[in-house]
Amino acid sequence: MKLAQVGYAEQIQSLKKEMNAIILAHNYQLPEVQDAADFIGDSLALSRQAAETNADIIVFCGVHFMAETASILCPDKKVLIPDLQAGCSLASTINAVELVSWKKEHPDAVIVSYVNTTAEVKALSDYCCTSSNAVKVVESIPKEREILFLPDFFLGSYVAKVTGRSKMFIWPGECHVHAGIKAEDINDKMQRFASAEFLIHPECGCTSSTLYHTSTGEIDVNAHILSTDGMMRHVRESNANQFVVATETGILHRMKRENPDKAFIPVKEEAVCKYMKMITLEKVVNSLMKKRYEVKVQDHVAEKARKSILRMMAVS
Ligand code: SF4
Repeated sequence: MKLAQVGYAEQIQSLKKEMNAIILAHNYQLPEVQDAADFIGDSLALSRQAAETNADIIVFCGVHFMAETASILCPDKKVLIPDLQAGCSLASTINAVELVSWKKEHPDAVIVSYVNTTAEVKALSDYCCTSSNAVKVVESIPKEREILFLPDFFLGSYVAKVTGRSKMFIWPGECHVHAGIKAEDINDKMQRFASAEFLIHPECGCTSSTLYHTSTGEIDVNAHILSTDGMMRHVRESNANQFVVATETGILHRMKRENPDKAFIPVKEEAVCKYMKMITLEKVVNSLMKKRYEVKVQDHVAEKARKSILRMMAVS
């Protein structure tokens, strides 16, 4: 860590105590931001931490829709995001107006939204889901009902294939940052690291294409599809000492830190979410000092969105 970063990290620790604040950091954050955090995890785990904390202030080091989710679950707390530009290319593929007009074409359909959506879109949804529980959520809906699944095309196609649902309509959204992970990249990596295990972390749009390729048989390898905690446990307990990991490269920092004797190879080095990397230690310090930028969802939107988020948390 550079000298300036050490200074910021120390400032963060003292500001946190002074203000009764906690720092939540997503797995895709810069290594030094992860090191300064109280909790590191995927969006669902961070939502749970936000809901349980006694802190007055939550500094959410992740992207905007995640901070919105934390704010919806903790309306009495101040939720801050250190950079308002930290958005999500997948969440921005559909807005509330587009969803309302799509629903008009399918008035009786059940709306299932992936967690990478804005609060307004969540408020119009019947269910919210993560990549880990999307199959379970869809299976819980009666077979004869139509389903509108959004916004991730690859995740929707994967779920439709696994569940055999025919009345499922899928929004053509994708994570532009990672649309480039192709089945050939994975097969090529696995041939080069033949003794490695292949791990998929189904957190974001960056790996839903990989999930889809596993269901079509385009990927010629046994994959372990694991949550963050499951992945950490698996890596710790496995006899393998090389792992090819399909996810945003940020999660490799924690894996290497906790397992220094093992090697972790990203399935694609370029799989970097530029939005996640907008948050720096300096911005976290400014966020705490100036109590900015507060993420607040209007009450009537939050109330409806909360229902679909709680359903998601109940099924996972
Ligand atoms: S990796 Fe893609 S889906 Fe995930 S937060 Fe970044 S832009 Fe959004």
